[in-house]
Amino acid sequence: MDSYKTPLGELQIEVFGHASLLLKINGMNIYIDPYSEVCSFEGKPKADAFLITHNHYDHYDINAIAPIEKDDSKFIVGPNVGEIDERYIVLNNGDGITWNGIDVTAVPSYNINRRNEEGNHFHPKGVGNGYIIDIQGFRIYVAGDTEPIPEMSEIKDIDIAFIPKNLPYTMTDEEFISCANQIKPKYLYPYHYFTLDVEELRKGVDPEIKILDR
Ligand code: ZN
Ligand code: ZN
Repeated sequence: MDSYKTPLGELQIEVFGHASLLLKINGMNIYIDPYSEVCSFEGKPKADAFLITHNHYDHYDINAIAPIEKDDSKFIVGPNVGEIDERYIVLNNGDGITWNGIDVTAVPSYNINRRNEEGNHFHPKGVGNGYIIDIQGFRIYVAGDTEPIPEMSEIKDIDIAFIPKNLPYTMTDEEFISCANQIKPKYLYPYHYFTLDVEELRKGVDPEIKILDR
């Protein structure tokens, strides 16, 4: 569990593995893409909100959601998750929602180059979300399954970034490094990786960015 100071009090971040995260802030538990293959969620704190980036099984996983959901859990989901359940609040790229002093904005997250065997992008533009979670100015960027995309040049003033790296679905280590240096978060969590060599990444990432190995 990592701790950060924010204007709404202490933020605690738990990294479960793959793209699965828990943000604890101001008495709320906000889960991002909980995934039962990397962690059992039985007995974990109940979710006040879920942020789901897209419909792939490693991001939208009902077996992870079921043990931690409650009647009034808020579900904020990407467009291709929206039709699954009428309770879900769908954010398209660019949409935002505010609750309890936290602003969540959906940002684009997609492939430009990488495709499956049928020639379709693993993550077509517009169907999945990254999220910017703005806690009274303390800003967290969760990129989702994305390659480096032009829209990242708009992503600024980030305290903590979660950026994916793995092929064939997201990006290479070199692309990861270029994204990190463009966004320039204070703290950087590589995530959604198969293998991680933080020392190797440090050779390319701006030394002012603190890389966390979780
Ligand atoms: Zn995916
Ligand atoms: Zn994924």
